[in-house]
Amino acid sequence: MQEVEVGTVPLDRLAGILSPERAERMAASAARARDRLGDHVVWHVNATAHGGGVAEMLKVLLAYGRDAKIENRWLVLDGDPEFFDITKRVHNRIHGEAGDGGPLGDAEHHHYRRVLTDNLRELVSRVSAGDVVVLHDPQPAGLCHGLRDAGVHVVWRCHIGSDDSNDRSDEGWGFLRGYVEGADAFVFSRRVYAPSWVDGARLVVIPPSIDPFSNKNVELTASEVRSVLAGVGLVADEGPADSVRFKRRDGTDGWVRTHRESGGLVLDGPPPPHDARLVVQVSRWDRLKDMAGVMDGFAELVADGTHDGAHLLLAGPSVTGVTDDPEGAEVLEACRAQWRQLPDPIRDRVHLASIPMDDLDENAIIVNAVQRHAYAVVQKSLMEGFGLTVTEAMWKERPVVASRVGGIQDQIVDGRDGLLLDDPTDPQAFAATLGRLLVDPALADRLGAAGRERVLEEFLGDRHLEQYVDLFSRLVDQTPA
Ligand code: UDP
Repeated sequence: MQEVEVGTVPLDRLAGILSPERAERMAASAARARDRLGDHVVWHVNATAHGGGVAEMLKVLLAYGRDAKIENRWLVLDGDPEFFDITKRVHNRIHGEAGDGGPLGDAEHHHYRRVLTDNLRELVSRVSAGDVVVLHDPQPAGLCHGLRDAGVHVVWRCHIGSDDSNDRSDEGWGFLRGYVEGADAFVFSRRVYAPSWVDGARLVVIPPSIDPFSNKNVELTASEVRSVLAGVGLVADEGPADSVRFKRRDGTDGWVRTHRESGGLVLDGPPPPHDARLVVQVSRWDRLKDMAGVMDGFAELVADGTHDGAHLLLAGPSVTGVTDDPEGAEVLEACRAQWRQLPDPIRDRVHLASIPMDDLDENAIIVNAVQRHAYAVVQKSLMEGFGLTVTEAMWKERPVVASRVGGIQDQIVDGRDGLLLDDPTDPQAFAATLGRLLVDPALADRLGAAGRERVLEEFLGDRHLEQYVDLFSRLVDQTPA
């Protein structure tokens, strides 16, 4: 297993943007955590140190926890490609999708357990009785029994889920049930995501949160945004392309690189002009994010030459960087093939970009700049656990067009904090909704402002930390199994 270094971020900084009552409540919660947890360590185990929403949140919350003098540690599983194929299959099935169509039978259980047995041995040598271990998502779920035998409190936190169940989701849950049913607590992002066999008394609903001060969300001036995007070649800009400096999580300075040696971040074609009204979707290259459908809908919208000046940017992580996502390269390749088939005038207005993952602080600044530069942000997912990209865009006052699926519904009230797509598989409806925003900058501004308010109220770290403290305090009061 690999231990991820957890930094420290001052809680006071977060307190500075909260109301005095909220700041006080957060401080009281931190004090309670110190008191109740004492020397016990809270361990988090997941499948990747970077890429995707879970790693994003762990980075931040653990760093705040450190400032509150809570002993947090973060471990990443060791697994082989077959293991990640199996867990990706489980992930897809839980979302009701076939994924790669492969089986989830005895052989898969056997391999899954074998990989986790090695991880468990290492983990058990590190934890102490009475510690709390939070296992994130299906990959480490099979560690639950062994950890309980070691006398620790086990929380299984499932960040994924589906609004509806079908035979495939039953199959996915069937694979996991025996591994996790005995957990001391279950955390889901939405109540409807918990399968019926989860004991309601051990279930806690904790929606995710974002950190306004992380490189992903920190304020950037208009000129910084322009310099970042011009510098990495994500927009065509003759203007100043000074290298932008940013603060790394470890406190050192970093500079956004030009990435010229890799041919720039825009794949295949030229970047959009700097003054284009950019429609953006930032996502992993995952079929459920439906980058292909965004391209279809946008092509439909501009097919008759309207919405002059509107361009689409589909940006995702460099596919070599996200190790638990074996389908990424395939999905990106399919998008590139689709892009090549677009008629010339449309293809000129559609851009695919690959954001390097080798430097996560830089990656975050680039994503931040892309989101801030967007006229509108789209998240046309077919399914979504929560949809942090939506939260990030709302925080930046960008108007969002997103599917009425999963946690996106908990973030956006249609017409107030963004626009929702009732049927994300309908390209015409998507085109029409996006069209409404493109012709109505006042609507875009209004939705953007309301979106930020909503995030301030509900989706920042203080609420998330307080919910964790409540849960962990309750667990450490119980005698471990
Ligand atoms: N992300 C990123 N770089 C990329 C693409 C995505 O840092 O090239 C981040 C994105 O900003 C967000 C997270 O990955 O913070 C994705 O979380 P979300 O909940 O939207 O979806 P998930 O990937 O967890 O399904």
